[in-house]
Amino acid sequence: MYRTVSVSLVEMPEHSKSGTAFRKRLLAWHDVHQRDLPWRRTRDPYHILVSEIMLQQTRVAAVIPFYERFLRLFPTAAALARARETTVLRAWAGLGYYSRARNLQAAAKQIARNGFPQTYEAALALPGIGPYTAAAVMSIACGQSHAAVDGNVRRVLSRLLADHRAGQADADALLDRRRPGDFNQAMMELGATVCLPGTPKCGECPVSRYCVAKRLGQVDLYPARKAKRATESVTIRWAFVERDGKVLLAPPKNDGLWRGFWTLPEIPLKAAHLAARIRHAVTFRKIEIEVYTGQVQGNAAGWEAVPTARLKIIPLATPVRKFLAQWKNA
Ligand code: SF4
Repeated sequence: MYRTVSVSLVEMPEHSKSGTAFRKRLLAWHDVHQRDLPWRRTRDPYHILVSEIMLQQTRVAAVIPFYERFLRLFPTAAALARARETTVLRAWAGLGYYSRARNLQAAAKQIARNGFPQTYEAALALPGIGPYTAAAVMSIACGQSHAAVDGNVRRVLSRLLADHRAGQADADALLDRRRPGDFNQAMMELGATVCLPGTPKCGECPVSRYCVAKRLGQVDLYPARKAKRATESVTIRWAFVERDGKVLLAPPKNDGLWRGFWTLPEIPLKAAHLAARIRHAVTFRKIEIEVYTGQVQGNAAGWEAVPTARLKIIPLATPVRKFLAQWKNA
């Protein structure tokens, strides 16, 4: 039944009066109300790519300082391609989800070699780039007509159409083909600032007259709530051994939770003393790290005594940084 109600808005986008009026209203609202964000002041596709990768799973406010610092360090794809992975990971430290940084550098290497992709399909072939990011970058930087559907946009569509299945096809139909980049950003902005996940601000919504869920009084039914993955608790025990201006560290590994990062070594310790508990969350894992001080027992092969002066310049896992900051202030 709800699909029938939404036909006039979406299913004949080129010809529908309401589709055209919807686009006009949304874009007019966006032109006035959009937030001033650093990546909106550029059309450099590499800069937009960096912002889109950082914005995956990270809030806008948290991304801004990282984005600005990252582009000061690596202003071009060629500069990022040339950098050492440890330098890139250090610049990323604090943003989490480090596979994004590795993929971004792998993408930068391809861009430095072949130039920035000219098509959506070529962008999609870059490492770590999915349909949303490819559509966002190609529409915003290159003005190509591809609808970008992230979580915010899916929620807006689901409510506008009162349809749990609303997604890419609806976004494609609704897209403004004259201003695809602005339209995509307007849909995202609407989701981020007005059509919020909890309680949407329908009174401030520029397109409320087209919203089927609002008309039906069923805004709270859309989108369907997903069952959350159960949280897993993990306890890790690390040793903190400092002697002669050096700290014992475990070098980075190619797999596991701290892939690519130095950590404190896992114990056993002799005469251990619990020095700190650090809490850290990675996706669905709640990690409690107990840090012990004491003397190392047995073979410490594979661990390295690293001068404390170097701790600032090597990529340390975030909980190690947290511990060292606490230890210094204790
Ligand atoms: Fe979202 Fe409310 Fe606007 Fe509908 S009217 S799109 S639910 S903010």
